[in-house]
Amino acid sequence: MHELTEKQLKRRENRLRVKEEKLRREEEARQQALILKQKTDEKFMKQALLQAKKAKELGEVPIGCVIVHDGKVIGRGYNRRNTDKSTLSHAEITAIRKASKKLNDWRLEDCVLYVTLEPCQMCAGAIVQARVKEVVIGAMNPKAGCAGSILNLFTMKQFNHQVQTTYGVCEAECSRILKQFFAGLRKRLHETDGSGIYEKK
Ligand SMILES: [Zn+2]
Repeated sequence: MHELTEKQLKRRENRLRVKEEKLRREEEARQQALILKQKTDEKFMKQALLQAKKAKELGEVPIGCVIVHDGKVIGRGYNRRNTDKSTLSHAEITAIRKASKKLNDWRLEDCVLYVTLEPCQMCAGAIVQARVKEVVIGAMNPKAGCAGSILNLFTMKQFNHQVQTTYGVCEAECSRILKQFFAGLRKRLHETDGSGIYEKK
């Protein structure tokens, strides 16, 4: 009787050990997947930053976007609002148009959209309409962002599609390029003022 109990105890211990090992392996896999996701996000956000730099070269507010499908960039865009004299020329809209053309489909269901600045209401709306799977955001935009700042169009249950969101990827770099742009703009405005009053102050 005693022997049997001991056997049972051992069996129980073994089962527990196997279970623990399984949990440990699962946790390890989760961590690995997380690290891989972070690396991938940073890689593609850097591509979006390259797009933002193109906007900057045109004297536009530097915002860039790329759309990724199956690990490949299928659409790129950067802000060209002043150059095109069009409110539709936001980085995300251009990237969505190009990605749809590439996939020959308005649905971007398996796509991840990377954008250096939190999308506005127009772009967030287009992202929901295109049924984009996930949006990865660099810097937040407290004055106009619709992915959590003013409202969050991506999580509204009233719409038939919700978008996964990842925040703060390459955030420092994404916000630095904007700050530098606006600092440069202010400086130029003062220089062309002519009176010299602003520089002396
Ligand atoms: Zn926009």
